[in-house]
Amino acid sequence: MTTDFTSESPAAVADAVNRYAGRHGYGRFDPKAALIDMDGTLLDSMKWHTLAWLRLATELGIEATREEFYLYEGMTGAATIGLLFRRAFNREPTQAEVSELYSRKTSYFNELPRVGIVPGADELTALLIVRGITRVLVTGSGQISNLQRLNEDFPGAFADNMRITARDVTHGKPHPEPYLKAMQKAGVEPWQSIVIENAPRGVEAGASSGAFTVAVTTGPIPCGEMWRAGADVVFPSMHALVASMPAILEWK
Ligand code: CA
Repeated sequence: MTTDFTSESPAAVADAVNRYAGRHGYGRFDPKAALIDMDGTLLDSMKWHTLAWLRLATELGIEATREEFYLYEGMTGAATIGLLFRRAFNREPTQAEVSELYSRKTSYFNELPRVGIVPGADELTALLIVRGITRVLVTGSGQISNLQRLNEDFPGAFADNMRITARDVTHGKPHPEPYLKAMQKAGVEPWQSIVIENAPRGVEAGASSGAFTVAVTTGPIPCGEMWRAGADVVFPSMHALVASMPAILEWK
């Protein structure tokens, strides 16, 4: 589906789950775990990530736009640096370059003001806790500062052993590995999993893992990009997802 609309009514949500179960040949959908992206989904951090990446690219003499970094969202830092190097220098970066440049980008991010949470994201995690849905954090980030603050902003939402970060995967998003590893951690199957994402590459990872994949538009990426990436439903805000979450959890 490539139409540019969002799914909000209970009927639209039920249709989305029916299409999802039919496409994958699942006889049932019985959500037990929510696998949740961090940047742009829980934390309103993409505005600063894109600025920090642009600053780094400019210093390296690489022509880039801030907008493109919204589309790379979900990739690991190493993958983004590799992409820039191949485009500008026609070669792969060395391990030393990757580690130096990613730490430079991280320090530029940390110079910017502390980011807030995505409005409604705390209501989402609170709802999942009340409903007994296991939460797993699934991020391509390795930025310690953001990972640490999750405990303050989302108390009780993500146990230390329920986090998949850049360090835990060989292939970052859009590869399904991060979400497949998250399912292993939670002890669930794809038809028991809901992926919550805000960016096309993350949506692609979720959809190819076989999970029911929810996209929330929290930044400038148009919702058509989410449908094209394979989203099962697209919501215009986290509040809209929170309102529809009972319909998703109670689908029969
Ligand atoms: Ca994201």
